[in-house]
Amino acid sequence: MESARPDLSREIRLGLVGIGKIARDQHLPAIVDNDRFELVATASRNAQVDGIPSHGDIDALIAGGHQLDAISLCTPPGGRFDQAAAAIAAGLHLMLEKPPAATIREITTLAEQARARGVTLFTTWHSREAAGVEPARKWLAGRRVEAVRITWKEDIRRWHPGQEWILAAGGFGVFDPGINALSIATRILPGPVILESASMEVPENRASPLRAELEMRSGAAPVRAEFDFLQTGPQTWDIEVDTDQGTLRLAMGGNILRLPGGAPVRAPDAEYPRLYARFAELVAGGEQDIDIRPFELVADAFLIGARRTGPAFAF
Ligand code: NAP
Repeated sequence: MESARPDLSREIRLGLVGIGKIARDQHLPAIVDNDRFELVATASRNAQVDGIPSHGDIDALIAGGHQLDAISLCTPPGGRFDQAAAAIAAGLHLMLEKPPAATIREITTLAEQARARGVTLFTTWHSREAAGVEPARKWLAGRRVEAVRITWKEDIRRWHPGQEWILAAGGFGVFDPGINALSIATRILPGPVILESASMEVPENRASPLRAELEMRSGAAPVRAEFDFLQTGPQTWDIEVDTDQGTLRLAMGGNILRLPGGAPVRAPDAEYPRLYARFAELVAGGEQDIDIRPFELVADAFLIGARRTGPAFAF
């Protein structure tokens, strides 16, 4: 199969699909600031970006004569498989928002299709690009992990206003933010993370959970996670790792790192600029970056987790 590697003497001509909250808050600014990309068109059923040609769906975008090199998908995970498969079949490099698909089989199939077609597939995990994550991984690499506590609590009404899909079947509920914590844990912990048990609370009028508790293990170390979508007041996105040489603390979604005996270190947020820089690198090198470990842990929680019914929820 002929490689779809673009001509590196020019920008990567990009189509952006699913113009919602994350596309506007993060993708558009990151694309504008990266001179390796040119946003040439969008696809969204209801939304447009000023000054950029728009289409109602990805098929029209692909057929639109834009000489595309790549697509970035920012739609919810349900329905993303067909969109992704269409991009790959058209020979376009592909960057996926998290979670990368709706099911494990979908993403493994997309990975096979991308390899066969010779295009880059990048399953992004934006939280892994938070400033404290890579220094945390390096610090932990030489130490014995004894216990891990993950506390991921945010207010669904503040961060996901009106996003009905998130509590529908396949929307993942509180695992939508919780998977960010799992993406960090699976990056920084030296050993594999295995789920042992889980429980979750699903509102009586919804299909996906608002709360979840996970008991995992990394080597001999217990890894406990608590996810809550009903946190009002201060928001908590923390990971604490006890080691034989003290406790490492990541706060604010990985943006603040505190090592034992040290002061908290915070660096500016550059998660999405780093994702697009990485995507450009992968495309240039004809490489893949496909890591589904966080997604597998969520799937495992749905496989073995106990369900309890909670009070009805309205946005
Ligand atoms: P959103 O605000 O609902 O935007 C998604 C957009 O996708 C919608 O505006 C919609 O635009 C389009 N869409 C296509 N098919 C859809 C469907 N079946 N149901 C609903 N919308 C559909 O969601 P978002 O917060 O941007 O999240 C999108 C993805 O980014 C999710 O996978 C999420 O996990 C991830 N993400 C979100 C955040 C965040 O803070 N919000 C952060 C990081 C990652 P049209 O109606 O115009 O088609």
